[in-house]
Amino acid sequence: MRRKLAAGNWKMNGTSASLDELTALMATHPDPQVDILICPPATLVTSAVVTAADHALQIGGQDCHRNESGAHTGDISAAMLRDAGASYVLTGHSERRTDHNESDEEIRNKTKAAHAAGLIAVVCIGETLKEREAANTLDIIAGQLAGSLPDVLTAENTVIAYEPVWAIGTGKVPTTNQIGEVHDYIRSRLEQRYGAGVGTSIRILYGGSVKASNAAEIFAVSNVDGALVGGASLKASDFSPIVTALQNA
Ligand code: PEP
Repeated sequence: MRRKLAAGNWKMNGTSASLDELTALMATHPDPQVDILICPPATLVTSAVVTAADHALQIGGQDCHRNESGAHTGDISAAMLRDAGASYVLTGHSERRTDHNESDEEIRNKTKAAHAAGLIAVVCIGETLKEREAANTLDIIAGQLAGSLPDVLTAENTVIAYEPVWAIGTGKVPTTNQIGEVHDYIRSRLEQRYGAGVGTSIRILYGGSVKASNAAEIFAVSNVDGALVGGASLKASDFSPIVTALQNA
């Protein structure tokens, strides 16, 4: 039985005033029946951890360096995130792949660093519109899974987020058939590579323009174990109905 996960990625949004949104979210879900994760900008990780100290809500980073420490100005290591109280980190978000030219190999190294630091890595994969239109989606997904995931992992330290690049922040959402096809495919690849035990137990999130109005439909799709949500995670009033939909799924 996979525990469901509602994850929010605040991206480069939020100042200390945004912690009020965490407080409101926790007040609406005092005893959540699903895991809830918020990944604020790095500047807010410590204060978000303090804000959520008495609640099950978990805090994560949005990226980490592959090394534990060293001369990498502006970067943050997985060990530092762990030290700040984070329990998760996103790796390979499409905005990192695009803005920072991150390769699958780089993402694999970051994912290994996350595991070594005791963090749960949410490894993001997904095709561009051009790739989907060329009917290459499953090949792209297979390549990203093969390249971005380490050979050794567990269902406890790894979550996959399928995020079609063309659905992120656009309001466009794949059909439920399209989501189901990719999630079922990811599940089969995971089972093939890591064996039925681990491969069946890894959670697979869908991400890309999830909002209150489409969440229930998406959560009914097979092998969708939750969502990674960008824009609709910034306000508790938008994110809370998504958490509720996941609880009811
Ligand atoms: C994301 O940033 O991972 C994301 C899915 O964004 P949005 O929900 O805004 O499409």
